Amino acid sequence: MKIDLLITNCVLLPVPGAETLIDPGFVAACGSHILQSGPMSECPTVEFGTVLDGQGQLAMPGLVNGHCHAPMTLFRGLADDLDLTTWLHGHIFPAEARTVCPEMVYWCSKLAAAEMLLSGTTTVADGYFLEDEVARACAETGLRCVAAQAVIDFPAPGAEDPRKNIEVAERFLARWQGRHPLISPAVFAHSPYACGNDTLLRAKALARRRNVPFFIHAAETRDEAGMIAEPLAPTPIGHLAHLGLLDRDTVCVHCVWADEQDLDLLAQSGAGVVTCPQSNAKLASGRAPLAAMLQRNLRVGLGADGAASNNSLDLFREMDFVAKAHKVQPNNAVAVPAARALQLATSGGAEVIGLSAGHGTLTAGSVADLILIDLAQPHLQPLHRSRLPVYSGCAADVRTVVVNGRVVIHNRRLLTIDLQETCAQVRRLAGQ
Ligand SMILES: [Zn+2]
Repeated sequence: MKIDLLITNCVLLPVPGAETLIDPGFVAACGSHILQSGPMSECPTVEFGTVLDGQGQLAMPGLVNGHCHAPMTLFRGLADDLDLTTWLHGHIFPAEARTVCPEMVYWCSKLAAAEMLLSGTTTVADGYFLEDEVARACAETGLRCVAAQAVIDFPAPGAEDPRKNIEVAERFLARWQGRHPLISPAVFAHSPYACGNDTLLRAKALARRRNVPFFIHAAETRDEAGMIAEPLAPTPIGHLAHLGLLDRDTVCVHCVWADEQDLDLLAQSGAGVVTCPQSNAKLASGRAPLAAMLQRNLRVGLGADGAASNNSLDLFREMDFVAKAHKVQPNNAVAVPAARALQLATSGGAEVIGLSAGHGTLTAGSVADLILIDLAQPHLQPLHRSRLPVYSGCAADVRTVVVNGRVVIHNRRLLTIDLQETCAQVRRLAGQ
């Protein structure tokens, strides 16, 4: 049996959200996929592959950041403690107009990819302008990326004439479809208020024609319904449903202000939702009805959103926050249990953003995207339950990261890119 990578003597969490821990366990990968995993008593021998000793470490699937704008690391901390409308129109849009160019998108995405990998994220769903540069940065850094080209109805970097925005997106899809094992291209219509009905229809038609996911910010703020130029329904989700945009390949990001009828529309259509609770809290947008979504068996993932509205891309913080934030008002300790938060941040999120089965678990046939967490840290002692990382883990616990069968971080050292150079380039772009 050919094995390229073998991790031995770890505490193995093969299926996030389940209680089962195998201790001591192993994971064996051949190429990009997991060949076998299980107890050490069944561990195969390796002739030529790499062997990593997982003693004292928890092996679990890598985390999936279901929504991000990677280049926005440049704006981290630029405008805090503001509501979304003031933040976006008063600060972010003007900053983007001044700074967004291919070079900025490339270096700031590289920084984001490094930050995500070092905090245990192995997959991100991103949406921005000049998304080629995001895809290139993620591919070089070794982060799996569902890269979605942004479509918006005003002049934007790379699509100065908004009438050409669909053509720009189509060319992006043609450049990346089936071209790189880590990159899956997609379409990201900004929102129902920044895209007119015709643009929304054409963007979704393109996504259908190319068989790629379609992302859209929807129902993020209470005021959003009133900002839609030609509303076809009283709510943003109703508007999208009326346009025929909701299906299993559509991902509605946020859905903070989704009412009961909206949740029914999402459930009936099979559309996915990505919730970004820290971004929604920081921008005072509100809190998504996540417990009601889970009760209806909606497909839900977890996202950090951009670094300007979070301000971290650390999904350990996001998991902790999503589980705790939903326990208050009304008081309900099991609204989003820790095991569920873990599932949203791994297999649940992977499924929502359009990755095929076999993402988000460490079982035979799955994609070899995994992380090793240092259990010797005092805040991770003792290990009672498989969901330990949700409330107690943090980014700095991640020791080793494997994406697509390749070790990209070992003992907290990023092996793929020059991180110092990347940080220096981003500081230069920030004028520092
Ligand atoms: Zn966003």
